[in-house]
Amino acid sequence: MNQIRSIKGTHDILPAQSKDWQDLENQIHKTANLYGYQEIRTPIIENATLFNRGVGQETDIVSKEMYSWDDKDKSTISLRPEMTASVVRSYIQHNLGSNSLLQRLYYIGPSFRRERPQKGRQRQFHQFGVEAIGSNNPEQDAEVISLGWSVLKSFGIDNLELKISSIGSHNCRDNFKTKLISYLDPFINQLSEVSQRRLKKNPLRILDTKNDQEKQILKSAPKIEEFYTNDDKNYFLKVQQYINDLGIPFKIDPLLVRGLDYYTQTTFEISSKDLGAQDALLGGGRYNGLIKALGGKDTPAVGFAAGMERVLIAAKKRKKPKNKTLCIYAICTHDESLGILQRSSEKLRNLGIKVVCETLRRSMRSQMREANKCNADFAIIIGEEEFFNKTIQIKNLSEGKQESIKYQDLITYFKSLTF
Ligand code: AMP
Repeated sequence: MNQIRSIKGTHDILPAQSKDWQDLENQIHKTANLYGYQEIRTPIIENATLFNRGVGQETDIVSKEMYSWDDKDKSTISLRPEMTASVVRSYIQHNLGSNSLLQRLYYIGPSFRRERPQKGRQRQFHQFGVEAIGSNNPEQDAEVISLGWSVLKSFGIDNLELKISSIGSHNCRDNFKTKLISYLDPFINQLSEVSQRRLKKNPLRILDTKNDQEKQILKSAPKIEEFYTNDDKNYFLKVQQYINDLGIPFKIDPLLVRGLDYYTQTTFEISSKDLGAQDALLGGGRYNGLIKALGGKDTPAVGFAAGMERVLIAAKKRKKPKNKTLCIYAICTHDESLGILQRSSEKLRNLGIKVVCETLRRSMRSQMREANKCNADFAIIIGEEEFFNKTIQIKNLSEGKQESIKYQDLITYFKSLTF
């Protein structure tokens, strides 16, 4: 029979890798908590309309990459291609704004995009991100950037680069758009097919082209900063000042635009020089127009999303924290003692000690080999002799020392090691 394999662009996270994932997830929870953010978990499936409106029908994510299907009740359902729209849907649906003027939220979970798979680009990938909903002040932007930076740094990633930009207010962007279109129009035949389409639908997206000829053309194009109002300028200066105060190095990159209409003011991206072509670890910005666009009250918000697979690739060189939980392998060579050993193991686990019990009834030698393989600190051993003497052998696996103690002293023995 044909072997059934995972779907192209999706990956199993195998036991050898899952510890790294847990470490990253723990670091995200820890850092987000330190900043006062609370976790939100939303469903993986949503009504397609949410992303059509919330991400935009003209984006690649929605128009080409989204997994959607008609459900039995004829509604169209999508696998989420990102999580901001879902968080905002939930914020509006549960009226979270009524609990407090500012909601500081974070999330972790899989997203789905039907992209061409390559290193750092998958069809099911995992994101973590934050959304701060309610504040329209530049210190909020700086806080969100700082949180993202801090997760990456504390996870041991060096060589980070933060780029920031501002796309100003709606007015500023509309004026810029008009001027950009009239500048690019004479070059239309030199633009790629994709950019020609974007010129009509979403001209700002042309700014992040990877095409060299288009980059050349863009060199003399009007720049967004020429269209900033005084408020836009001051806002951007404040964001820069606060990031500076936090000691985070950054570069201003005027080409860093988010093409979506609901974005305003600050945009940012953190990349790693240790990654190849797909070097963006985290991207975000202020999206003051989204909550209203999705049917909520006009509420300002800022957030980011980061790709966890890429974070783990960039973190390959990090120093891994040592496993601090004491680990015991429980060996039994006498079938009648199995119950006693399981009972003792349970008591030890109640002390917070990891205990792995043999259940294959292998030879003493094989069980000892297994104890070393799973990096246990100690082996506890009960055989026929120990059973009759009411004793238990304790072997310290790093020092190689072995001693026999009274069975009744087992818990006190390990209690004294852990406390
Ligand atoms: P975006 O939602 O497109 O702004 O993406 C935010 C982050 O998610 C990016 O900076 C990447 O780190 C990550 N990401 C986006 N798409 C993919 C993908 N197909 N595979 C892996 N990571 C991705």
